[in-house]
Amino acid sequence: MKPISTLLKEAVVIGDGGYLIELERRGYVDSGSRREKVGTGKGSGQFTPEVAIENPDALRELHREFLRAGSQVLQALTFFGTREKLNRAGYGAQTETINATAVKIAKEVAGDSALVAGSVSRTQLVEREGMESLDKARDHIAEQIRLLKDAGVDFLILETFFHLAEMKVAVQCAADSALPAVATMSFRPLIAKCTDGFTPAECARAMAELGAVAVGANCEQEPLRMLPLLREMRSAAKVPIAAQPAAFRTTDDCHSFTRQAAFPDALETIQIARQLFFDFGKQARAEGIHYVGGCCGCNAAYIRALADGVDEAK
Ligand SMILES: [Zn+2]
Repeated sequence: MKPISTLLKEAVVIGDGGYLIELERRGYVDSGSRREKVGTGKGSGQFTPEVAIENPDALRELHREFLRAGSQVLQALTFFGTREKLNRAGYGAQTETINATAVKIAKEVAGDSALVAGSVSRTQLVEREGMESLDKARDHIAEQIRLLKDAGVDFLILETFFHLAEMKVAVQCAADSALPAVATMSFRPLIAKCTDGFTPAECARAMAELGAVAVGANCEQEPLRMLPLLREMRSAAKVPIAAQPAAFRTTDDCHSFTRQAAFPDALETIQIARQLFFDFGKQARAEGIHYVGGCCGCNAAYIRALADGVDEAK
């Protein structure tokens, strides 16, 4: 496979879908909803990726499904895999093993048919301890990126950051590691601004200036709801745009599925049709979006529809 920076210049790159929600539905990931309110960032460590060491076959199978659906990139399931987040889930001592095993599984399935990206997300320290915790967050993110690099990922996807300040830390850590990084912010409750008050345009510029090879958004909104913010980013940044929308319906008042009453135990009631990912795939090229995948709620059926849409637009 060619490196991600080359693929981004040549065509629309097809990513993969969301792992944690899908594996939660299949019974291999803990949502935490029976013990606490989920989605606050203050909980005990829900939606962590220990499935990589506890049920590797389940993870392997989902990777295979995405690959069969047309993904050119498989994300190692290392989302929420910093020692900080894993500590709260009781898996801190397995941080090295979880990250290394997740990458190994993704690479086995990808073979020569897909690139493998290490997924790095927020530590949730900022939600719990405020901006003073950014130095601590930096240590945790740098540690995880080192583990991912040692395990042999091709590049990084920095995703689901709510605060631009923490995203900037992550992009800097990625630059220090010399791994290329796709950087996507998540916006809630509205797409107008991220949690620490920056517009999509400001986020895009900041991430690009720090060296991200592509910038964009992931999670929280369905494709149509996300589109205006992607356009804003496209006008502001000179690097390729990346989009990994969720497959859940949001409302005009709240552009965030994790803030809907249906999260996390009634998500089936706000699931959108895969046809909307087909439409999004078709639109991606015309809109100048260079990397498309899916986030929460996107299983292989959605990625297949997305890939078909991109294909039809050619
Ligand atoms: Zn998501």
